Amino acid sequence: MIDLTGKVALVTGGSRGIGLAIAQQLYAAGAHVAIVARDEERALKAAEGLKGKGRAIAVKADVSDAAQAEQAVERVERELGPVDILVNNAGFTRDGVLARMSEEDWDAVMDTNLKGAFTMMKYVSREMMRRRSGRIINITSVVGMRGNRGQANYAASKAGLIGLTKAAAKELASRNVLVNAVAPGFIETDLTRDLTPQAREAQLSRIPLGRLGQPAEVAAAVLFLASDLASYITGHVLVVDGGMIA
Ligand code: NDP
Repeated sequence: MIDLTGKVALVTGGSRGIGLAIAQQLYAAGAHVAIVARDEERALKAAEGLKGKGRAIAVKADVSDAAQAEQAVERVERELGPVDILVNNAGFTRDGVLARMSEEDWDAVMDTNLKGAFTMMKYVSREMMRRRSGRIINITSVVGMRGNRGQANYAASKAGLIGLTKAAAKELASRNVLVNAVAPGFIETDLTRDLTPQAREAQLSRIPLGRLGQPAEVAAAVLFLASDLASYITGHVLVVDGGMIA
């Protein structure tokens, strides 16, 4: 049984999809949870949906903006205490073929998916290092490991996140701050809902388990990495993809 009683968890993009499932599972394990997202109303609704012993708050912030990310961390520390578990989950796609991809689409995806994670890690890790304890879990993607047509920006951001995870794992290990990544495959969320039936079929045919993953199945991997069970794991990328890239 995983027990995170009293721990403070910050989940970016915790208002829906995979992030919401992560927030729910960390909360159910006893953590106090801060949900960081741009749409405040949805984040509030998600936080209000967490009912139990712990505290849950919603913090409006765009993680691609360093000043907003820093303020979000300050607010969480003020209201819940220093962060024990940081989950960098906020991310999105803006697909297009490389030759026609705009600089704006490149920057937007990199700024949230990669720079957003870097900024959050920078501000959260200071207190973690001082306290000689902490867990950071970055949500990357199998696309960052294998690439994908039409997703040069997204694949680069997710591959970058793996490099960031490994560098930070080495840098922070002496302070007992463990940094890992979870790489989901094809998970049923808003992000994948708009695929054409043909694209969905094509993806399904590549998944040995024969079905899409559920957000809760990704969250379970995060919960494990956040727990005492994972005390000797750092710099690892845990793939949760139904066997897709095996
Ligand atoms: P969703 O689109 O369902 O949710 C994304 C979440 O991130 C929302 O809560 C959104 O809230 C938040 N968010 C987006 N941009 C920002 C920002 N700049 N600042 C703060 N919050 C932000 O996505 P998923 O749940 O599907 O994906 C979650 C993560 O998992 C992403 O990093 C994604 O790349 C990754 N992933 C998903 C896969 C899948 O198949 N679904 C597969 C592999 C990886 P708001 O809009 O209010 O800001």
